Amino acid sequence: MLVSDTTLSRNYRSVPLLDFLASAPTSSVPNSVYSFLKGPPPGTVDGRAALAPYSLRKLEAALLQKYTRDEVVVAQEDHIEQFVDEDTEIIGVTTMDPLGLGPLTMSYAVFFETAAPAYVQKEFETLLARVNRVRAGKKAKLLVGGPGVWELTVRPEELDKNGIDFAFQGEADDIVVDLFRYLTEEGSENTEFFKGYQTFDDSFHKTWSDNDRFITRYQFSKQFPRLEDIPEITAPSVKGMVEVMRGCGIGCDFCEVTLRPLRYYPPEKVRREIAVNVGAGMGNAWLHSDEFFAYQHGRNFVPNEEALVELMQAVMTTKGIGHTNPTHGRISIPAAYPDLMSKLSASIRSGPENWIGIQVGVETGSDRLAHMHMPNKTLPLKVGPDGTWAEIVWRGTTVLNQYYWRPAFTVQVGQADETPDDNWETVALINRMSNSYLADGRPFEFTITPMQNVPLGLLKSRNFSSLRLNESQLAVYYASYKHLAKIATRNAMNTSHEANPLTKYVTGAVIGIGAWSMFQVVRGICKRRGLDVERAGTYGLHETKLEAPVAQ
Ligand code: SF4
Repeated sequence: MLVSDTTLSRNYRSVPLLDFLASAPTSSVPNSVYSFLKGPPPGTVDGRAALAPYSLRKLEAALLQKYTRDEVVVAQEDHIEQFVDEDTEIIGVTTMDPLGLGPLTMSYAVFFETAAPAYVQKEFETLLARVNRVRAGKKAKLLVGGPGVWELTVRPEELDKNGIDFAFQGEADDIVVDLFRYLTEEGSENTEFFKGYQTFDDSFHKTWSDNDRFITRYQFSKQFPRLEDIPEITAPSVKGMVEVMRGCGIGCDFCEVTLRPLRYYPPEKVRREIAVNVGAGMGNAWLHSDEFFAYQHGRNFVPNEEALVELMQAVMTTKGIGHTNPTHGRISIPAAYPDLMSKLSASIRSGPENWIGIQVGVETGSDRLAHMHMPNKTLPLKVGPDGTWAEIVWRGTTVLNQYYWRPAFTVQVGQADETPDDNWETVALINRMSNSYLADGRPFEFTITPMQNVPLGLLKSRNFSSLRLNESQLAVYYASYKHLAKIATRNAMNTSHEANPLTKYVTGAVIGIGAWSMFQVVRGICKRRGLDVERAGTYGLHETKLEAPVAQ
C-alpha cells in the first residue's frame, strides 16, 4: 500500500502557492484556518485515492509492471485501514518535509523564533501514528521515501520515534520492484542497494554514511533511472501534474537538483500522461521541472525555442486541456528572450483571464552573491555587461507580466558569506519591483517569499535555535511580507479557482484578511526587534529606477 504525506494530497482551495501554508508553525496559524484552507481530502474510488501526488503515481506505475492492481494500492489517507491486513508487505509513505527542516518551513520557524512544529511535521506524525496503529501486530513494513528523506538523515532517531522501519533515499522508478523484494524476501540478493545514505560535506561534496535503517542505490552502480526506465502514470495526479524533465545542470552551488542528470520527456510522453489526468476530468496540466526554460537547451543554456514551443503546443492540443503552466523557471530567459515568451504565451493562450503562474528563484538582489553562488543562473545574460542582477530580474518581470505570467519569487536569507549590504540590495529590489508598473499602467504582479538558508552543518548540530535574524535579514522579511499583503489584498477575490462561488468568496476573504493580519504580525515583530520599518519599507525607492536595457 502506498499513501502520501497528507500535506501533498490536498489542493489548498485551488489557490496557487497556498501549499506553502503547511510550512507555517502550528503556533502561528490557527488550526481552523489551516484546516479550511488546505481543502478537503481527495475523493476516493473504493477507498483508493482518486488523485494522488505525482511521485506516488510513478511508483504505482512501476510496481504495476510486476504486480496486479489488487496487489498495489494507492490509498486515500482516511481509508488506509481498509487495505492493511495480514498479507500486506510494505506500506510506503512519500514525504517532502517530514520534520519541518525545509527552507520555507525554517524561514517561519526562525522568524517567529518558535520551536512549535510546523503543520508539515504535525501532519506527517499524525499519518504515521495512524499507519502504525493499523499495522500493529502485522508483518507490514513501513518504508518512507521522497525528497524529504534527507531530513531523516539529519535526525535518524526520528525513524524510531515515528516507528519507521526503513527510509529510502533517491529516485526509485526503475528499482522499486527490486527494493520491495529486497525488503520482503528473507535472504534476497542485494547487489543494487547500499545500507546507508548520501549526504554532503561543508563543501557540498557527496559523502556516504552507513546506517542499517536507510537504503539508497549502491554507490558504484547506476544512480538514476534512464529516461526509458521511467514509467508513465496510469492514474491521475494531484493538480494535474506531469513531469517534462528531470535534472537542471545550471550549477547553483546551493542546489542538489543540479547534480542529477538531465532527462527530457519527449512531448508525446508528456501528452500521454496528461491524457490520464484529462480522463479524470482535469483540464489543467502543471508541467513539472526544476528549470523549464532549460528543456532541451543549447550551449550556454540558450533556450531551445523550437523544442519549448513544440512542447507547449503538444500540451495544449491534448484534448480536454484548457490551461497549463510550468512549475519553475529562470528569470533571465524572459529578460533576454521576449519573443520566445510571446510565442509561448500565444501557444498557451495566456491573457487577463488566464494568468500563468511560475516559481522563480531570484535568491538575492546582490550582484556579489549572484556571482558567487549562481553564476550560470543568469545565463545567457551576464551580470555586469548585461546589467545588474536586479535589472535583469526587473526586466524579466516586465516581460512576464506583459504576457500575463505571474512569477512567484523566492529569495534566500542566510546564504554563505552574505553581508548586510547584500540583504539591503535584496530589500531595494523587492521595494522597487513592488512599486513598478508596466508601460500600460498595470502594476507589477508577483509574489515574493523569503527562504531561510540553514547550513547542513547547523542542522546536523541542531544548533539552529541560536539563529537570530539580524537587522538586514529582518528587512528582507519585512519587505517581502509588505508586498505579499499588498498583492493578496489586491487579488484575493480572484485568486481561488474553486468552482463553488461561496467557497471561492470565503477563500478570498480568508486570504485577504489573513495576508493583512500576517503583515501586521510581521510588522509588530520587526518593530519589537528594533527594525526601522519605515526605512525597510521604502529602502531603494529613491535610487535610480530599474529599467536599464538588457542585451538580447
Ligand atoms: S537553476 Fe534552479 S534547479 Fe537549477 S541549479 Fe539553480 S537553483 Fe537548482
